Amino acid sequence: MRKVNTIVKKTDIVKLKSYYGEALNNPLFKEYVDKLDLSDDVLINYTSNIEDCLKEEENCKNCPSLKSCPNTLKGHVLTAIKDNDALNFSYLPCKKFIKEEKSYAYKKNIRCFDIPKDISNASFKDAYRDDNKRLPIFKYFKEFIDDYLNKKQVKGLYLSGSFGSGKTYLIAALFNELAKKDISSALVYYPELLRTLKSSFQTDYEEKFNYIKTVPLLLIDDIGAENTTSWSRDEVLGPILQYRMEEELPTFFTSNLTLKELETNLSTTSDGVSKVKAKRIVERIKQLTTSLELVSKNRRN
Ligand code: ADP
Ligand code: MG
Repeated sequence: MRKVNTIVKKTDIVKLKSYYGEALNNPLFKEYVDKLDLSDDVLINYTSNIEDCLKEEENCKNCPSLKSCPNTLKGHVLTAIKDNDALNFSYLPCKKFIKEEKSYAYKKNIRCFDIPKDISNASFKDAYRDDNKRLPIFKYFKEFIDDYLNKKQVKGLYLSGSFGSGKTYLIAALFNELAKKDISSALVYYPELLRTLKSSFQTDYEEKFNYIKTVPLLLIDDIGAENTTSWSRDEVLGPILQYRMEEELPTFFTSNLTLKELETNLSTTSDGVSKVKAKRIVERIKQLTTSLELVSKNRRN
């Protein structure tokens, strides 16, 4: 039995050597193995892996873009790394990948609760400027950034207006701008937050609730789109707004409803009508914000 194994091994080695010898005819392969500075006896075991590395390096030389990187692991290059008398193979990040990673480092400052990706990546640079109706909003943003960075007391924004006009996008762009200056924020799709909080009573309810209450900048997105319950109004929204008012933490809202309409919306729950409680919430929103409107064409596809 042992004898047979030895014979098989010998023929294998012959095959490996011949495969390796052929590969050496490729000057790029030769250059790659020369740099590794290992004996041929070791290198013959890795011919196809090294060829894979070369293929990936070749892809990099003709890099179409990071997005359409053809390598096995996007933005990475399979690389042979010497480990004593053997080789290890690792996927190392390419320059473009590292650059992009750095340019997104600010993202750690923003927490999104159910906000679509295109919106969470919003930026002033990419924002449409084709609509004069946005000018007062950009003016407000400029003042907000200046004042906030100079530690002045600032009010958030109650941005109401038509569906798809870009309300959420614009506030996300503002938060991204400030995240680059290391300011933390949260974008919270309000109807979904309520569902999430409801299902986390037994788990991390407190952690989530406190995070939203205390985060330096908060967007409560699409308020008024949910079914109001006395719990969501009096146990969630009320305490969040109360705390943020007392601590002077800028709070933003987007809504398809004007404040007047929101008040009506908040007054009716399945437990009955409470105009006083709804009014109290709206009063807090008024204290926390400046109101602007964005009625424009629907940009959603
Ligand atoms: P709203 O919150 O008013 O309903 P969104 O902010 O969700 O509207 O915007 C609708 C769509 O239009 C989104 O897909 C968003 O990416 C795009 N969009 C909106 N405003 C802009 C903008 N200023 N620049 C680029 N894309 C935008
Ligand atoms: Mg929106």
